[in-house]
Amino acid sequence: MAFSMSRRRFAGSVGAALGAALLPSPFGASRASAAPARGEIRDRILLDANENPYGPSASALDALGRAGRAAGRYPGALEEELRSKIASHHGVAEDRIVLGCGSSDILRMAGTSFLSPGRSLIAAEPTFEAVLSYAGVTHSETIKVPLTADHRHDLDRMAAACDAQTGLVYVCNPNNPTGTIVGGDPLEAFLAKVPSTATVLVDEAYHHFVENPAYRTAIGMIDRHPNVVVARTFSKIYGMAGLRVGYGVASAAYAATLKGQASWDNVNLAGLSIAIASLKDPELVPKNRRLLNDTRRWLCAQLDRDGRRYIPSETNFVMIHVGGDVAPLIRAFRDQRIQVGRKFPSLSDWLRVSIGTREETASFLTALQRIVPKRAAA
Ligand code: PLP
Repeated sequence: MAFSMSRRRFAGSVGAALGAALLPSPFGASRASAAPARGEIRDRILLDANENPYGPSASALDALGRAGRAAGRYPGALEEELRSKIASHHGVAEDRIVLGCGSSDILRMAGTSFLSPGRSLIAAEPTFEAVLSYAGVTHSETIKVPLTADHRHDLDRMAAACDAQTGLVYVCNPNNPTGTIVGGDPLEAFLAKVPSTATVLVDEAYHHFVENPAYRTAIGMIDRHPNVVVARTFSKIYGMAGLRVGYGVASAAYAATLKGQASWDNVNLAGLSIAIASLKDPELVPKNRRLLNDTRRWLCAQLDRDGRRYIPSETNFVMIHVGGDVAPLIRAFRDQRIQVGRKFPSLSDWLRVSIGTREETASFLTALQRIVPKRAAA
């Protein structure tokens, strides 16, 4: 099965290419270690991975020093504390929470728990590719269901595609790369149609950005549909992408199945400490939502003013129509030291840009006006 280049491979190849250009070194092996971490990059604008440019809050970062001093020990007690905090945050029992090294780890656990050579994956096209690559690992068939004309999951066709062989149904809500949502009522109606032998994995990585009142988290649906697993992450609104903390919420039985696929101590002390501190900070989520959603609204107003098409987004990224193959445009942005999202083959004339700070986003807009003249994007 052919996949488009994943986010990490793409970022890695861009970083390697730029790193090699920017940091010439006669010492082959040490050159890689001299490359700056993404968080240290100052000579490029990173709008390619839907990260949060503001990072963790100052109060959360205080916890990092304490974690450093305790780093000689395994993180067990903090794992229990984070699980307990997440459980009370969602009002569910602790045995329904599974921690992961990022939510990608939860997607992996779902893939290896519920997929196998005879059991298929149903997913939208395009969507976040991680689960599709895990289906490759488990040698499962993948059934891709194109999005509707307005770039949403086609839940009717996804339900119709389910049969006794279906192992996993992936609903990315909001969807990456389109930023669109499925509403709470249609989602619940869909869950009622999926056979109970299939697991529905609802990926809510961008949950906190959504303002549309039709949207509801699927966590509240698990009691009625115990075959639902919800994946959440600290990478986006909490600004912790580099610390790799995510979690799953499921029924106790499904959570136990997922845990069976987890590696021991899969979340490190630094990530656990900052995640715990982040959950205690009541300002963090509303502040980041306001900052990033306001900047997204500002960008979209400029796109409207310029008469450009884009997909209305409920997330910290936007898909903009560029009227032709996006691949050379991605390279043109890179030449301007702006990294934008990778190409999604089924939306090959759309460019995904992550929302950065207002200044970063303004720089992107200026480059867009130069690289993609309005008439070319029509
Ligand atoms: N799910 C979606 C929809 C994403 O877009 C991403 C990252 O971009 C992830 C999951 C993985 O996030 P992480 O592993 O950092 O939690």
